[in-house]
Amino acid sequence: MSSEERIDPWGRPDIKDYRRLYEVFGIRPFSEILEKLKSMGVEPSAFMRRGIIFGHRDMDVVLNAWASGEPVAVVTGFMPSGQFHFGHMLTGLQLVFYQRLGFRVFVCMADAEAYAVRRVSREEAIKSALEEFIPNLLALGLDPQRTEFYFQTGREGPYHELIQLFSAKVTFNEMEAIYGDLSPAKVMSALTQAADILHPMLKEYGGYKYVVVPVGADQDPHIRLSRDIATRMKGEIELTPPAATYHKLIRGLDGGKMSKSRPEATIFLTEPIGEAVRKFKVSLTGGRNTAEEQRRLGGEPDKCPVFDQYLYYLVPDDSELSSIESRCRGGALLCGQCKAMGAEKLAKFLEAHQRSLEAYRDKAQSLVELPKY
Ligand code: SF4
Repeated sequence: MSSEERIDPWGRPDIKDYRRLYEVFGIRPFSEILEKLKSMGVEPSAFMRRGIIFGHRDMDVVLNAWASGEPVAVVTGFMPSGQFHFGHMLTGLQLVFYQRLGFRVFVCMADAEAYAVRRVSREEAIKSALEEFIPNLLALGLDPQRTEFYFQTGREGPYHELIQLFSAKVTFNEMEAIYGDLSPAKVMSALTQAADILHPMLKEYGGYKYVVVPVGADQDPHIRLSRDIATRMKGEIELTPPAATYHKLIRGLDGGKMSKSRPEATIFLTEPIGEAVRKFKVSLTGGRNTAEEQRRLGGEPDKCPVFDQYLYYLVPDDSELSSIESRCRGGALLCGQCKAMGAEKLAKFLEAHQRSLEAYRDKAQSLVELPKY
């Protein structure tokens, strides 16, 4: 595999053509799952309908298991550091979707990985998990009774043994072929992630045979490694290759990545609303150089970070979204007007979220085992 076709899950996500992932990595189009969901009487989420979730591996297998009443789980992880933002929210809302279907939810606070590959101190990781990540996930709708939060360094039981076992199932060359340049920290983090993904299948954690992991496309190397390891454990521990769904990452307000290190481009769910609105109003757009040009040529919503915020979160109604898109393309909507409308929607969304967050601010500590050392 050429280095251009390798994905670095710890680097800057830079996927230019999502369709290439079908050809190069064997990810399957999510459109086939949309039909399946409908035939099962499940209303697909807006992320699914709008093509934000674009690919999958074995999602059909998990849905068949769910439909026949087998216990199924959804697993994800966050590197807790700083504030919870719009980039994280996409995965959070997918967890809520699966939980409402009856999936058990496992949420890893990846403090070991954050320390190893991002130099996030243990104190910061714990503080950010308790004050930001867990309360925000609950405020988005996760049911605390049916969600298992854990820290990598605080997980009890055979979880840690899995990491040792997995290290014997893969060679350094194979890992380099998947990940590119490696360091001891990255090797440990990759094997730990495989344990995060696969450990719910052990009887000590519920024995969930079917697990799905909703990830950004940049995290596929972890999915491929976990699937290979699951297959190679045959005869020692029965593990099913995990399923995955793949989503496109939301663009930041400057067209780049949303990240805590790029606060001007990122909307944080707990920041002062006026500050979020200010950033939104100076966002890059897909508009033309002049109003006259825009009326004549129309805007380009597919290049517009403002439209991304509508598409992902701020306009849940499909017909309203399509009206914004066609008025933009047709030149009837100008960016100033459009941003003023979006700023109002953003303020309303954050007000409602921050109000519901109040109920969860002090809950996190009682829901997760804190690391002991
Ligand atoms: S009108 Fe709205 S959606 Fe269209 S380019 Fe301008 S800001 Fe973006």
